[in-house]
Amino acid sequence: MAAAAVERLGLIIGGQERPARSGATFESIDPSNSRPLAVVARATAEDVDEAVAAARQAFDSGPWTSMKPAERARILWKIAQLVRRDAEELARTESRDNGKPLRQSRTDVEVAARYFEFYAGVADKLMGHTIPLGPGFLDYTVREPIGVSGQIVPWNYPIQIGARGAAPALAAGCCVVMKPSSEAPLTALLLGRLGIEAGLPAGVFNVVPGAGGDAGERLASHPHVDQLTFTGSVPTGIHVMKLAADHVCPVVMELGGKSPNIVFADADLDLTIPGVANAIFQNAGQTCSAGSRLLVEASAHDKVVDLLSQKARSMHLGPGVDDPDMGPVISKTQFEKILDYVEVGKGEGARVATGGRKATAAGLQDGYFVEPTLLADVQPGMRVHDEEIFGPVLAVSRFNDLEEVVRMANQTEYGLLAGVWTRDINKAMYLADKIKSGQIYVNTYGAGGGVELPFGGYKKSGFGREKGLESLNSYLQTKNVCVKFG
Ligand code: NAD
Repeated sequence: MAAAAVERLGLIIGGQERPARSGATFESIDPSNSRPLAVVARATAEDVDEAVAAARQAFDSGPWTSMKPAERARILWKIAQLVRRDAEELARTESRDNGKPLRQSRTDVEVAARYFEFYAGVADKLMGHTIPLGPGFLDYTVREPIGVSGQIVPWNYPIQIGARGAAPALAAGCCVVMKPSSEAPLTALLLGRLGIEAGLPAGVFNVVPGAGGDAGERLASHPHVDQLTFTGSVPTGIHVMKLAADHVCPVVMELGGKSPNIVFADADLDLTIPGVANAIFQNAGQTCSAGSRLLVEASAHDKVVDLLSQKARSMHLGPGVDDPDMGPVISKTQFEKILDYVEVGKGEGARVATGGRKATAAGLQDGYFVEPTLLADVQPGMRVHDEEIFGPVLAVSRFNDLEEVVRMANQTEYGLLAGVWTRDINKAMYLADKIKSGQIYVNTYGAGGGVELPFGGYKKSGFGREKGLESLNSYLQTKNVCVKFG
């Protein structure tokens, strides 16, 4: 895919790429220099209606649902191969559109391919049960695709999250209408093109970037959508749930986080310091599961803060395509919000151990670059402790004992991930039991994309699970058939 191919992109509806009905477009901006990168068709409610109608037709009377599962699997596998074929171009596009370092985009693209491979592997293994009812009865269950899945995707991992939702839905036999964020829509559209090339029948996978308040609202409230997977912020998620409730549409909610990374004094710091730094500074902190709170055992606090500050100061910032240690944040709005949070934190009594400002090195002045930042002396109850900043800002607190750290770890409204760094397996297992979050990592943070691992939130981080085999439950419904004979 040549670079020129991403300069103008249309909507993917009914197996065709075309402009919006209104002719409207928007510019996708390169956050490393705030210049336009591509012109993209802007879907409005009218286009979403057409996309849903195309998906509805493909599901109700098209070939997708009548195809043998093994044939569906072959097409999903083919998409994975095409993603791998175009991996470098996709990664470069992601880095330009979102700003993330090239090696992170390469990982995202690899993970996207893995989603299609993983779910291709299960498309022909979606089995039901037989249930013993005694002589004269045969009772069995069938797992049927739920129908048209509406998927609303954020800007922080467009190709990865796009694939994470589309692949299991397609494997289950559903048809998909995906609305990527208008902040970074390019790779989701390129994925839509690859779906057509791989042989997905018309209407099975539609991609309609547009404004949340227009295209997004229409998708969430559309009466012919049978299921919604929403990934984004808590306030938007609540709004989407209300729209979906009006037509009794089941939803998966993948929302925000303020995940604790817990470091005990006995931790192996050679492992811990890079792990903790990566958990917050990857994708410039714009990761739902970022380890954005650091809880350090008091006796190791000063040493850990010192080592992490050195690490943060040594990081090289630059445009994502140059593969720096950290790229820009996504937009001016996000940039200003992050720096405002630093001021809020200072006002609340936090101490800036390092960073906290716009990065001003040569070549960065026109982009949205924020220094990797550590805020020390943070306490529960401060906004910088409780709220998701969604930037490269690590809030650091200290703890004295196990009971205190359990209390602190659970002391936000979120519950997405937690990390525990210790050589003591008993402490690790105790925390794994007591922390309320959807994933817990011990002496690591994340698992290279974690395609196989169920992922989702406790509390306001959401509900439902994506990834792994559990994700399929969102796209299937169980029918029970009871037969009396003899
Ligand atoms: P956002 O809530 O602003 O937008 C998410 C998506 O919703 C976008 O496509 C947007 O256009 C759409 N949207 C906005 N308003 C809408 C409306 N009124 N109706 C329907 N759709 C609407 O979130 P964002 O800023 O794009 O992403 C950042 C947030 O996403 C963070 O809170 C982050 O934690 C969360 N996130 C969660 C996960 C997860 O898996 N749990 C993954 C990535 C990001």
